[in-house]
Amino acid sequence: MYGSRIMLACGRIAFPLCLPNARRNPRVLRCEAEPQHGSSNARDSGPKKVVIVGSGWAGLGAAHHLCNQGFDVTVIEGDKGFGYPDTTAIRGYYRAFQNIFSLVDELGIKPFTNWTKSAQYSEGGLEIEFPIFQDLPQLPAPLGTLYYSQFFRLPLLDRLTLLPLMAAVIDFDNTDTAWRKYDSITARDLFKQFGCSERLYQDVLGPLVHVGLFAPAEQCSAAATLGLLNYIILAHQKDFDMAWPRGAVKEKVFEPWMDSLRAKGCKFEEDRRLTDLIFNEETGCVSEVVCGRVTYKADAVIMAVAISTLQEIIKNSPTLCSREDFLKVLNLGSIDVLTVKLWLDQKVKIPAASNACSGFDNSFAWTFFDLNVIQDEHQSDSMTVLQADFYYANELLPLKDEQMVVKLKSYLSKYIKEFENAGVVDKEIGRYPKSMTHFFPGSYKNAMRASTAFPNLFMAGDWIVNRHGSWAQEKSYVTGLEAANRVVDHLEEGSFARILPVKEAEPHIQTLRDANKSLNDLRAQLSLSITQLLPSMD
Ligand SMILES: Cc1cc2nc3c(=O)[nH]c(=O)nc-3n(C[C@H](O)[C@H](O)[C@H](O)COP(=O)(O)OP(=O)(O)OC[C@H]3O[C@@H](n4cnc5c(N)ncnc54)[C@H](O)[C@@H]3O)c2cc1C
Repeated sequence: MYGSRIMLACGRIAFPLCLPNARRNPRVLRCEAEPQHGSSNARDSGPKKVVIVGSGWAGLGAAHHLCNQGFDVTVIEGDKGFGYPDTTAIRGYYRAFQNIFSLVDELGIKPFTNWTKSAQYSEGGLEIEFPIFQDLPQLPAPLGTLYYSQFFRLPLLDRLTLLPLMAAVIDFDNTDTAWRKYDSITARDLFKQFGCSERLYQDVLGPLVHVGLFAPAEQCSAAATLGLLNYIILAHQKDFDMAWPRGAVKEKVFEPWMDSLRAKGCKFEEDRRLTDLIFNEETGCVSEVVCGRVTYKADAVIMAVAISTLQEIIKNSPTLCSREDFLKVLNLGSIDVLTVKLWLDQKVKIPAASNACSGFDNSFAWTFFDLNVIQDEHQSDSMTVLQADFYYANELLPLKDEQMVVKLKSYLSKYIKEFENAGVVDKEIGRYPKSMTHFFPGSYKNAMRASTAFPNLFMAGDWIVNRHGSWAQEKSYVTGLEAANRVVDHLEEGSFARILPVKEAEPHIQTLRDANKSLNDLRAQLSLSITQLLPSMD
């Protein structure tokens, strides 16, 4: 009864399942929605409204294309300030991130360093130095990656045990079938099954997976591992090269990007957390986005938030809880991160700007970055400024700042001796529980597609199932563009965004992949005909 009064007051029909939310907060009246323009039921003249929730790579990617198509776009950000998540840790930009590099060219900004060398350390010390691969003669994949990486400790025999893994990389063609096949096992099991030596696993592959997928290999999906290996490391020699933002991504990319979007009419609403959605009973479409006491009318909505925040939204939304695809998201997981920025009283020579590390404790891997090399503001500092990021940092989060600094300094000193004598002048510790996606075995079947049970509600983010084949920030950005394309399709206005496809595999890999596919098809047909024969044999 109470609900119907609200509906009448607003002069239109709201999806009844939303009402408990309104009951909790009687001031959530649709009538006090901020912009009072058209909805999917009764549209005023003027551009159609798209509300985008979240202002990371996915949300801004969607806003970018939809503003270019003349839609009335509002981006809602739950935090105080935009671009917040990208201040948490240092993000790398692989050469494979073609869509992001094309975007920064379009914006006319130069946010990234030149390509940098990187290194990998294990408990025993410097394990590998990775050169700038595009500067070296190109060899057929994956030979260049293996040949030019300088291994300091791992014997050749152990390195050679990596080669059989190529069979899995070839078999994994990023299709739904491939994801289902490999998602049921762990990266650890994958390496074991394909004959990688224990030492290769412990000192190289395990840590590489941990800093790539942010969790220990025994807790990562083999499908996600193969997707990452294929996209960044093994498909093309050049694609493993990395550049770094020359400061906070917020300042170097997001602020100029948002300025360009504002100039096209995009509205940004900060400190507005999405709390629920209101649906039109007749069409099944979202008609309004609820942020506490404020609502926004929408012809289409894109949700571009991280898993952990989406889970909170779902738990509090009776409407979303009524749909299987949203309920399954509650089975997904996220990972804790801890960052330590240190100012030291002397210059320590760090051989590579970015470093992947493991050892000392098997439960987490981490990275450290020479900020004097990477970030503009520290380039002329007389002291060393570095940042270390710890992934899967569950057991580190409760530690006191001082304990973390002692731990980090002792780790660094084992890798590079001069750290022993350096005193800490200043420190900044950041704790970010549940801040990144956990691609654990079995997670694929619970991940959402970009389209949902609601015709005008679309999803974007690095955890969405898509077939583009990219990863991390590039994937988020691409899923934002894909969600924008779905809006264009749904509202039947504008044209589709051009998304640069992932580069095709090199011809020899493609030939092997085609042969493998034919073989798999043949096997499937044979087993089908055998099963068809079986009843007649009874
Ligand atoms: C520590 C760390 C290191 C990483 N390193 C790399 C790397 O080296 N290279 C790489 O490519 N990727 C890296 N990543 C992954 C990369 O950062 C993510 O893939 C990418 O940023 C995800 O972008 P997104 O837009 O999907 O989500 P997000 O960036 O999480 O954006 C979601 C936005 O939604 C907002 N929001 C949340 N809840 C609400 C709500 N209720 N209402 C409104 N807004 C809300 C959030 O505040 C946020 O702004 C790293 C991630 C982390 C955490």
